[in-house]
Amino acid sequence: METTKCLIIGGGPAGYTAGIYASRADMKPILIEGPQPGGQLTITTEVENFPGYPNGKSGPDIMNDIREQALRMGTDIRTGMVTEVVFSKRPFRCLVEDTQEILADTVIIATGATARWLGLESERTYRGFGVSACATCDGNFFRGRDVAVVGGGDTALEEATYLAKLCNKVYLVHRRDEFRASKAMQQRVFNTANIEVVWDSVPTEIVGEKKGFVKAVTGLSVNNKKTGENTVLPVDGVFVAIGHQPVTELFKGQIELDAQGYIVTRPDSTATNVPGVFAAGDVQDPHFRQAITAAASGCKAALEAERFLLQ
Ligand code: NDP
Repeated sequence: METTKCLIIGGGPAGYTAGIYASRADMKPILIEGPQPGGQLTITTEVENFPGYPNGKSGPDIMNDIREQALRMGTDIRTGMVTEVVFSKRPFRCLVEDTQEILADTVIIATGATARWLGLESERTYRGFGVSACATCDGNFFRGRDVAVVGGGDTALEEATYLAKLCNKVYLVHRRDEFRASKAMQQRVFNTANIEVVWDSVPTEIVGEKKGFVKAVTGLSVNNKKTGENTVLPVDGVFVAIGHQPVTELFKGQIELDAQGYIVTRPDSTATNVPGVFAAGDVQDPHFRQAITAAASGCKAALEAERFLLQ
């Protein structure tokens, strides 16, 4: 069994930034990151809006820079999954990989959020065989081919413009007649010749072929809500970009979550309803969800954890 003043759960911009600040405050933090560290920025291409990179930089490179900085400050970064937490008494008990026990005076939760899926049976069938939630990870497989992107937020429009550079044609399927995405992003889509927006349409099935273990997508069936018409878009790939879900399963029953599963934090604070447990980044932020806002809340969480220990 080990003890620490500060345990940080999650290796994204929030977790690493908390590590930088907690290390500088001499809290000797332990940070547990999952097997694919770096958070959602690692599945992004060029990032133009993170301060300090005037010419933009790739998401994975930026994350690596922040991680290196946390390491240099002294954060003890370890790979593993936290499998159990007990927040009912202090120090807080956390189990890593069901075996390693860590007792922590404070905990900073920075587990982020993951992609949401449409929930179609056929989506499950073809996931990894033409259905993806990450254009930058899988777009390359569809070079010169036709694909569909589902969603109307910034992620969907960003994925569509990224794929338009690689693919022959991109159908952007949205369930309403206006986008939720920023105006700048919309303009980029409207100015891209090989993106066709399919308005008012709901995906009803991923169409594909199965030959033994070999599976391939051949189309996306959509239903137009205004006309009632069903159409099969002839595509080889479907990219689902309909938002994210907070990673909070582990904390159910331990701290307060809202109806969507986000951790509830006090106004202008990263404090949860359990004194000594703080939450930073996308896991408690359904609104901004930017790397820079996640990093900022990681900073706040570490400062609040330090103050908590001083009290
Ligand atoms: P959003 O929640 O903003 O958008 C989700 C989109 O998916 C909406 O258009 C929604 O439709 C649609 N949708 C949701 N559920 C379904 C469903 N079951 N079937 C079909 N469509 C569905 O998520 P994003 O991931 O796009 O963005 C999250 C946040 O991150 C936002 O704040 C965004 O601004 C930000 N972001 C910023 C970027 C940047 O600044 N570079 C890049 C990417 C994201 P409807 O509109 O009808 O609700």
